[in-house]
Amino acid sequence: MSRYKRVLLKLSGEALAGDKKTGFDEATCITVAKQVMQLVADGVEVGVVIGGGNFWRGRTSETIDRTKADQIGMLATVMNCIYVSEIFRYVGMQTQILTPFECGSMAKLFSKDRANKYFEKGMVVFLAGGTGHPYFSTDTGVVLRAVELEADIILMAKAVDGVYDSDPRKNPEAKKYEEISMQETLDKKLAVMDLSATVLSLENKMPMLVFALEEEESIVRAVSGEFNGTKVIV
Ligand code: UDP
Repeated sequence: MSRYKRVLLKLSGEALAGDKKTGFDEATCITVAKQVMQLVADGVEVGVVIGGGNFWRGRTSETIDRTKADQIGMLATVMNCIYVSEIFRYVGMQTQILTPFECGSMAKLFSKDRANKYFEKGMVVFLAGGTGHPYFSTDTGVVLRAVELEADIILMAKAVDGVYDSDPRKNPEAKKYEEISMQETLDKKLAVMDLSATVLSLENKMPMLVFALEEEESIVRAVSGEFNGTKVIV
């Protein structure tokens, strides 16, 4: 029996792209799908939020209007969800994609009731399109949806294997935390998530597990508690 009834898994766009850093790496997505299938078989309700960085990030454009640039980013997250949702179906799960704006026949409009209905049916629910508003990120999107949907915890799958006191890619002496409070990540400016996501999670007491996606069975191990990432408490 899992310790958690409902979890929200956040995958960055880049994580889906593997070494290519752009587009999709199918093998990576299949590995994720197989792990999520284990969680679902164990009775865990899984929501998935995916970034868009493998295609586009609004803030990187210096020419076009930020609102329009962010709209492209939000649509990139929808493309990612359509792809990963199909990979999940390929391995044998049932899925639905919900968006905060109309996407015609490609997805359904998000509501808490609708998401709950799909969870009850044992489906994995993809929460695409971020918050639906520019100037936000999918980190804020995942915290917002986790709070709204009363998830027990967020599973933050990253390229790094936890929260460090400084950037481990720049400082070989960087120390990894086993556990840290969300407030401390803010005070120490550790930038685990952006500011709006961090504050939303603090205000609404939404905890998080941070771990490396590429470590074997990392998603399953995060849920079972045998993981070597960082628990961010609130
Ligand atoms: N985005 C947005 N509002 C949201 C979520 C995302 O405008 O609520 C846009 C924004 O341009 C962002 C892009 O979508 O840069 C991709 O999301 P994010 O940067 O979070 O992706 P990740 O870095 O996790 O792959």
